[in-house]
Amino acid sequence: MPDMTPEEAKVTAWLAGKKDAMIALLRDMVDTDSGSYDKAGVDRAGQVLARFHEKNGLLVEIEADAVYGDAVKARLPNPAANDQRPVLLLGHRDTVFPKGEPERRPFTIKNGRAYGPGVADMKAGLVIEAFVVAAFAECGGLSAPLLMLTTSDEEIASPSSRPIIEAAAREARCVFNAEPSRLPAGSEFARDRRQSITSGRKGGVFMRAEFVGKAAHSGANFDKGISAIVDLGGKIPKLQGLSDLERGVTVNVGLIGGGQTVNTVAPSAWCEIDLRYVTARQRGELVSAIRAIIETPDVPGSSAKLTIKGEFLPLERSPESAALFETYRDAAASYGISVTAEFTGGCADSGFTAAQGCPTLCSIGPIGGMAHTPDEFLEIESIVPAAQALALSVMRTAARME
Ligand SMILES: [Zn+2]
Repeated sequence: MPDMTPEEAKVTAWLAGKKDAMIALLRDMVDTDSGSYDKAGVDRAGQVLARFHEKNGLLVEIEADAVYGDAVKARLPNPAANDQRPVLLLGHRDTVFPKGEPERRPFTIKNGRAYGPGVADMKAGLVIEAFVVAAFAECGGLSAPLLMLTTSDEEIASPSSRPIIEAAAREARCVFNAEPSRLPAGSEFARDRRQSITSGRKGGVFMRAEFVGKAAHSGANFDKGISAIVDLGGKIPKLQGLSDLERGVTVNVGLIGGGQTVNTVAPSAWCEIDLRYVTARQRGELVSAIRAIIETPDVPGSSAKLTIKGEFLPLERSPESAALFETYRDAAASYGISVTAEFTGGCADSGFTAAQGCPTLCSIGPIGGMAHTPDEFLEIESIVPAAQALALSVMRTAARME
């Protein structure tokens, strides 16, 4: 590769010889059951990574959590670096799948694709990050300390990990988050060597509203009741009506419930609301509008309360993130892969790091698709080049920020 320094060539050649080892670690990770609410499971997946890091001579720190899985940090110090802020490699070990899924549907490979729960989202991303850290531990060549942080609850909006991620972002000079990259529409990886990563993500707020009315017998005392269901029902079109596709704003009432029996005026009702938006500035205005709709009774005598259950911040574009993208695109080009970027309404932890002012690039994991479904797949041949492109991007970004 004529466009590489000897250090870059050494690190990426080391990664080129690790395909089978990467697939073996991926198999181990996928077959370790780790749904977000399964603390023992996500912790076991953390132990698989911790053992790998320790075998490669890294320092492992565990940040224990009583309810959700622990956070696992691996550090590769670099006392010689002028700038002691690490490059942060970020990822989540949890999956959306119910307990027992890897037993029903273990890791398999068929026609160049790997299958299994979380294979793309995002266990393959964790595997390339772990190997990139190992490559620098083995070969050197990096002008920055390195920190790999894996968390346990991203699929449920990171209730326990958010402060840990934010603290790591404040400490870091830049962040790479190895959520899966994608195949551009209509392309085949083996034929076209094309890859799509993320230029930006929406923010998301997940809310619950509880409505209180007054019970009454629907036959004998209909007029004495206050129907919480009627109050809720009138609000649904108003809430959905806040959506503005041109501004990238959507409000979705995705769940509703309520009532006591068919012959009772409903004393209670509830709904859950998903708000997506694009810029940090939109958030306050939209949450206030939703709160005003919920908390202004449409049925005299009823009342309602809105609570925020979980939240992701948007990954907004910045000159720094554009520079990261260019570095990554040039690195992938060394392997004949052409990279494009697309905006997505899906949320991720990268919004938390970007909101801390830390330059962030997201979705640089190996190529996958159909995440959160039984058809989730990973392009096997994208694993090694994704690891190499990440390693080059880390080296070049660290050097540029020195
Ligand atoms: Zn993910």
